[in-house]
Amino acid sequence: MSNLPDALLTGYRNFMNGRYAAETEHYKSLAREGQSPETLVIACCDSRAAPETIFDAGPGELFVLRNVANLVPPYSPDGEFHSTSAALEFAVQALKVKNIVVMGHGRCGGIRAALDPNATPLSPGDFIGKWMSLVGPAAETVSGNDMMTKSERQTALERISIRYSIANLRTFPCVQILEQKGRLEIFGAWFDISAGELWVMDRTTGDFERTGTV
Ligand SMILES: [Zn+2]
Repeated sequence: MSNLPDALLTGYRNFMNGRYAAETEHYKSLAREGQSPETLVIACCDSRAAPETIFDAGPGELFVLRNVANLVPPYSPDGEFHSTSAALEFAVQALKVKNIVVMGHGRCGGIRAALDPNATPLSPGDFIGKWMSLVGPAAETVSGNDMMTKSERQTALERISIRYSIANLRTFPCVQILEQKGRLEIFGAWFDISAGELWVMDRTTGDFERTGTV
């Protein structure tokens, strides 16, 4: 009996024989010199929207922070356990990343739950409801719009929550100061799982535009 699920052990062997074998020197130098990723990606935990896969990133390239629905809470140094804020602080202050990308995605379960509080997984747990209440007011406004279809409401809230998280990023003093000095740039993106489309937020208007692939 193995100590890990077979699929993981098989995947690990493939990794060692494939990518690690091909990039051994790169891994060794990253181990020697430490990491210096230029970009922090804040993404959802969703298994279908892994930033390293979507951006075809190698080891050491992306510092990835994933949570339910890729949300950034407002800056609130209140002595509680803030995993997202801690990772953000580390990326900005210790690693000195140059870019932050908040990347949402289509068919997000967290966003779906926020739009329908009676649906799982929002109802039973101790934490998801509280976490998703970050976008509660926006969810309420979008839910009340009968002119939109259910999927339009879902996409709308996915994109609104990206803009909301970006606004919250700027409540962190370290982010605000570095952005003002021109040493940090903030971006928004939205990934559509079914078609593989990446939509990038226009930083002036907040609109999302599909990015080309050639
Ligand atoms: Zn999601």
